[in-house]
This record gives sequence, structure tokens and C-alpha cells, in this order.
Amino acid sequence: MTPAVPDLAPRDVPPLHFACTVCDEIHPVRTRPLPGVRRMPIYSHGPRGNRCPGGGLPGKTWIQTRRLPQWQDMTDLDRGAVLMFLWKVHWERSFAYARENYPCTYRDAPALVALTKRDACSHAAQVVKELTGEPGDRAIARYLGEAEYKRLYDLALHTEWTERRCG
Ligand SMILES: [Zn+2]
Repeated sequence: MTPAVPDLAPRDVPPLHFACTVCDEIHPVRTRPLPGVRRMPIYSHGPRGNRCPGGGLPGKTWIQTRRLPQWQDMTDLDRGAVLMFLWKVHWERSFAYARENYPCTYRDAPALVALTKRDACSHAAQVVKELTGEPGDRAIARYLGEAEYKRLYDLALHTEWTERRCG
């Protein structure tokens, strides 16, 4: 069994695959919906007669599977980037449109800066969902409170303005 070590390098993971909570290997999830089950279990794996006990259970979360920073590991500037992006999703009422036109732009954590725009936007959505249990701008606004939300948002906004002004 491999314990979760936070400083392991991030890894690429195909869609609909998650890390096993026991052995940390990447496996696909069942895609046929089960009534009343929110997180699909990963397929059973390991040698016949000695299957890994993590098979048939939900895997690690999206962020844990990729070994990316959680909210508590992020800088204020990167947190502000999450808020700016999720506000655009809320305002435009379209994740896909916001991702295309106003993608989440991380500037601090190397593991986040290295993400594609698409994965950065997915990370922004997942980090809030895993922190608050709910997706989206309103969930993180409730969690942070108005003053902290505004402080982080303004930090990212002013950084973006400064970058534009300085080319
Ligand atoms: Zn396993």
C-alpha cells in the first residue's frame, strides 16, 4: 500500500480514470450509472485470487488522483484565479464558454502553471467541489465570506491588469 505523499510529481490521467485508494494505481471507473451512487467505483484489479481491496470502491478524488494541490496548498493569487474563472462560468452560465474565453490562469504553483488551459479550468472547478462539497462560484463565495472572497478576487484581477499594462 502506497501512502499519499504530497510531494510526488503530478501525473496525467485519462478521462474516467481514478487512482485506487489502496494501491494508488490508475484504473477506469464503471460508467454505467448505479441508482443512488454518486461516485462510480473503479474496476477490480490485481492478480486473480488476490484482488486489490480497492477494486469495486470509488477511487481517490480528481485532484488526489493527479497529485495536484488542494485549496489549502494554494497561494492567494492562485486561489484568486479560481474565483475569477468560476465567476465567469457563473456570469456566462456556461463552463465551456468561460473555459474557451476566460480560462483559469494560474501563476504561482509550478504544478498548476504547467497544466493545459483545459486542465487548469477542471482543477479550478474540482478544487472548490472537493473543498465545499458543492461546485461553483456561489459555493466558494459562501465558504469564504464576502471580505475574503473580494480580497482574493481583487488580488488576481489586479495582477491580470498589471500584466496587460506591462505587456
Ligand atoms: Zn488497488
